[in-house]
Amino acid sequence: MPAPFSAPSAARIGPGFREAPLWHTGVVLPDAVREPTAVPGDADVLVVGGGYCGVVAAAELARRGRRVVLVEADALGTGASTRNGGMVIPELKHGPRHLTRRYGPIGGELVEAVFDAFALVERLVEEWSIDCDYERTGGLLLAHHEAQVPGLIEELREWRDDLGEEARFLSRDELHTEIGTDEYHGGLLVERTGGLQPAKYHAGLVRRALESGVDLHERTRATSIERRAGGGFHVVTTRGSVDAGEVFVATNAYADGLVPGLRERVVPIGSFIIATEPLDPDLARACIPHRRMVYDAKNFLFYWRLSPDGRMVFGGRTSLAATTVASAREVLYRELLRVHPQLTGVALEYAWGGDVAITMDRLPHCGRTAIPGGGSVAFATGCNGTGVALASWFGFRAAAWLSGEEPPPAFAQLAFPKVPLHAWRERYLPAVGWWFRARDRVGR
Ligand SMILES: Cc1cc2nc3c(=O)[nH]c(=O)nc-3n(C[C@H](O)[C@H](O)[C@H](O)COP(=O)(O)OP(=O)(O)OC[C@H]3O[C@@H](n4cnc5c(N)ncnc54)[C@H](O)[C@@H]3O)c2cc1C
Repeated sequence: MPAPFSAPSAARIGPGFREAPLWHTGVVLPDAVREPTAVPGDADVLVVGGGYCGVVAAAELARRGRRVVLVEADALGTGASTRNGGMVIPELKHGPRHLTRRYGPIGGELVEAVFDAFALVERLVEEWSIDCDYERTGGLLLAHHEAQVPGLIEELREWRDDLGEEARFLSRDELHTEIGTDEYHGGLLVERTGGLQPAKYHAGLVRRALESGVDLHERTRATSIERRAGGGFHVVTTRGSVDAGEVFVATNAYADGLVPGLRERVVPIGSFIIATEPLDPDLARACIPHRRMVYDAKNFLFYWRLSPDGRMVFGGRTSLAATTVASAREVLYRELLRVHPQLTGVALEYAWGGDVAITMDRLPHCGRTAIPGGGSVAFATGCNGTGVALASWFGFRAAAWLSGEEPPPAFAQLAFPKVPLHAWRERYLPAVGWWFRARDRVGR
């Protein structure tokens, strides 16, 4: 039979190429979570979603003596938590000045939260002995257009003068000490940024949850939640039902119809990553000499780094139209070589994608949200592509909040706007993407 037609790949594809996350290779979760069993009939808390947020919340609730059941629709970590770039960045999509101007004292609390979140990841890695190749590398934000340089200088003032952070601006000429490319017009170097291996970090959190006594159920989807007349909730899953005193929903970009109010407030947008074969150490140093986490300031940003085993890992996307990993891989490879022509001839060994949760105000949210039939459940969502630290932190804070020890985080006080015409988003998103691309061309 003739082979089906497929366009030849312009990317150099290595013989062992896999359309799967690099990070999954060699990371195995304990057997205790690999045996799908029926869920128990009752629990103090039912957690929905097995990414960083759900797993940390469950571990911390169990540590406080709660009987916790966690259900994950697919394999644990299947969502964004084992597919991301592994960049631990203390940032929201808006800077501190914008947040305090817009939200007053709450804005200040949001800024504190991101620094707390960053510190939490470093603390969990240390105290829970998580072997995840964590390194405080520093991060480099790059201006791809001259028009962005004043914005970076303004951001420097916020980081250095307002927050007392170790940060500096690098002119176009100075950039060469940090990155092997001529493509950028300046950069902001922030020392408080790190890198980790996302799946190893997630596996460490899962181990901790098991040790704390969490009852983890993979491949178990929660399909409905109802408030019970006598208090608490009745949750139906694909492996039985659970009566739970409290429910915490941690589904981020992967929200299904379980809690319609969450799905209507979050737009899942695919982000894609390619990883090369391991680089010759001199070549790796020629690209990113100090192993910084690197990202540019575009709306359709690219982000890149060296993996712990010396590969170039390069992510992003260039439109909001539906796409496949194979076509995203071609675009990313072309862009990688434009930024780092010294990598010409290097083969790709991995390509994959995952969904980030975009909200209308580009901020994460938490609190309680209504469920069909009355009542409300607790949730945290909307990490807008920077959730390694924040999703872990939301889980950590949710445990204290749902145990009655602390109020919910300040994010709970923000209005959480719906996405207009959510059901039709796939029709209009390509046009929105076109608009952002046009803005990127002029550095807006
Ligand atoms: C390609 C990519 C690159 C990224 N890079 C970075 C980065 O470098 N730095 C950074 O800070 N952030 C990054 N992010 C974002 C970050 O990965 C996420 O914000 C974070 O992992 C979210 O964690 P979470 O636990 O909230 O959600 P997830 O890890 O997405 O977990 C949600 C889970 O809920 C499950 N679920 C959904 N519905 C149900 C149901 N009804 N029943 C049971 N389970 C259900 C899903 O299967 C999913 O596993 C990136 C994301 C992507 C996709």
